[in-house]
Amino acid sequence: MQEFLEQDIQFLPGVGPKRAEILKKELQIATFRDLLYHFPYRYIDRTRIYTISELNPELPIIQLKGKITGYEKSGNKGKKRLIAGFTDGTGSIELLWFRGEKWIVDTYKPGVEYIVFGKPSVFNGQINIVHPDIDEVSKSRELLTRLQPMYSSTEKLKDNFLNSKSLHKLVNSMLELSAGKIAETLPVWLLNEASLISLPKALQNIHFPADTPTLLKAETRLKFEELFFLQLNILRIRAGRIMSFKGYVFAKVGENFNRFYKENLPFELTGAQKKVLKEIRRDMGTGKQMNRLLQGDVGSGKTLVALMSMLIALDNGYQAAFMAPTEILAIQHFRTLTKFLVGLDIRVELLTGSTKKAERTRIHEALENGSLQILVGTHALIEDKVRFKGLGLVIIDEQHRFGVAQRAQLWKKSDTVPHVLVMTATPIPRTLAMTLYGDLDVSVIDELPPGRKPIKTIHITDSKRLRMHGFLKEQIAAGRQIYIVYPLISESEKMDYKDLSDGYESITRAFPPPKYQVSVVHGKMKSEEKEISMKHFKEGRTHIMVATTVIEVGVDIPNASVMVIESAERFGLSQLHQLRGRVGRGADQSYCILMSGYKLSADAKKRIETMVRTNDGFEIAETDLQLRGPGDMEGTQQSGEAFDLKIAHIGKDGQILQYARDKASKIIDDDPELNKESNVLLKKQLRKLYRNNVNWGVIS
Ligand code: ADP
Ligand code: MG
Repeated sequence: MQEFLEQDIQFLPGVGPKRAEILKKELQIATFRDLLYHFPYRYIDRTRIYTISELNPELPIIQLKGKITGYEKSGNKGKKRLIAGFTDGTGSIELLWFRGEKWIVDTYKPGVEYIVFGKPSVFNGQINIVHPDIDEVSKSRELLTRLQPMYSSTEKLKDNFLNSKSLHKLVNSMLELSAGKIAETLPVWLLNEASLISLPKALQNIHFPADTPTLLKAETRLKFEELFFLQLNILRIRAGRIMSFKGYVFAKVGENFNRFYKENLPFELTGAQKKVLKEIRRDMGTGKQMNRLLQGDVGSGKTLVALMSMLIALDNGYQAAFMAPTEILAIQHFRTLTKFLVGLDIRVELLTGSTKKAERTRIHEALENGSLQILVGTHALIEDKVRFKGLGLVIIDEQHRFGVAQRAQLWKKSDTVPHVLVMTATPIPRTLAMTLYGDLDVSVIDELPPGRKPIKTIHITDSKRLRMHGFLKEQIAAGRQIYIVYPLISESEKMDYKDLSDGYESITRAFPPPKYQVSVVHGKMKSEEKEISMKHFKEGRTHIMVATTVIEVGVDIPNASVMVIESAERFGLSQLHQLRGRVGRGADQSYCILMSGYKLSADAKKRIETMVRTNDGFEIAETDLQLRGPGDMEGTQQSGEAFDLKIAHIGKDGQILQYARDKASKIIDDDPELNKESNVLLKKQLRKLYRNNVNWGVIS
């Protein structure tokens, strides 16, 4: 039965080898199944006809009914275009084509009534529609359902007559051929329990919705399936790991921990730090291997929690490793840990790609004989031939580049596996965490150390620039320092965005030397230049740091109290939040000033409003996820497996995700290896979907 859907797309009537090749290249559609799972990205309500008088460029794809009044060609060679006047009695607009003129003029005649659809846009102050779809009124009735699906296509596809409409036709013939040949992927008991419609019915209705309620059911079924198998896979990996690996038992808290707590800890732990330390201690004490995600906003004190967890490992006779994503961060952690541990008899070393050979050899030896207790480094420290005498705990910082599968790889390395604590400073919405870190237990530090004043954030436009400069001067007079951040430095960017070099000039004009000193750092500078510039600012020799986003990571200057972000509408939400996190590190009141143009897109408005409203990293991450989808979330690009979703949206389908997780969890709890008769279908499907998964071997 399955063979039917595995057939090469070229054998579908109407495709053939040439179009098949283009489909493969442009949309990764290689088989019948791929086409069937190329879902519409939206549906257009064909019962609603707009009038030209009510058009505005904010509208999505709409349809108009009217007549072409005439054609006109303009432009020369490279920029030829065809313009048609179009009127419906309430007004007139232009329809525009940049290709295929002859065919258009031959096909669509002035005076005939047409349904035109497309997205209104503005050109030379006039509303028009570029490359509209056109149907004759008389024909469109019979041809189309009320909810017309729109398929993503590309210019190349359109040039080969594979636009949304023709894709729809192909899907139609596919559905006709496939009657009775699409196998169900979910067991009947689960379909019943979850009130889901069958797969064939769902596929039929996602492409040809009978009506809106049925379309919703089709979407729900397909989203559930997608999220369910994702969760089933994650939970299977987790169950397999728990069954296969024992954890070291860290039974006691001893000398190192206690001395540190009494003598070295410079402040009270926050309630949240205590809470997560308890969770970590409990995990490491039970004989189960810990796999925990520690989430906490920038500055919430995760490093300290990591350190104290490592001390517990040391107290039980084991070593600990602290892994950072970059060398810079590894160095920073190394310095922080060394400072915290002053006076205690604990040896800490740093191992990165640039560690010299002699040094490296020395470190390797000390690790093997156990005289070195804490090793800080990049993840070469795990992949390398580094041998520990007894590695008991691995801390992975900022690890959102590691997906479920990569972590599974880590555990495969030996059968005595250290406890693992993954820390992330980019708050992750619950739903995303469930997917990205769904195999881990989660601890959250939801409290900042006391005495921090929440950063005040305001949004202003150019008209207030002078007043803003006045405010900056007051701050400088009070001894503070200022960051001014620009999107990026590049001459090719459009002129309406102030780029950094312009900005630098206007800043030095508004803040003239010798009274004011300005540093500048951007991506095109040599690293020595950057370092000198940073150093001057750090030492307080300059008042203002003009920079591109390079200051995002790793910079800690408590005296800087104002962050001005130019063209804030161009930044993503989590990027804005990260930048804002650069201030508010000292005792002074800090400010974040978001500068933007007057006209903002709906999304940009939402981003800026969110920043002004809240400092809560979790709320910001949640909004970001909803606006952008997980594929675009910072740091998640490389994490792979979870983001290949065809229909579900991790930000928007949280409820279905939670439901799918609960169902999957019940099944795995009851039958971790999916051996029961009622789960046979699930096991089969899972194997098919995750054929290449590294960790399949753990349970089968
Ligand atoms: P994170 O890694 O979560 O961004 P850090 O561990 O770097 O945060 O901590 C930020 C700053 O707060 C550091 O200077 C740290 O020493 C300090 N800090 C951590 N915990 C506390 C606490 N309980 N009270 C006061 N300051 C703290
Ligand atoms: Mg940190």
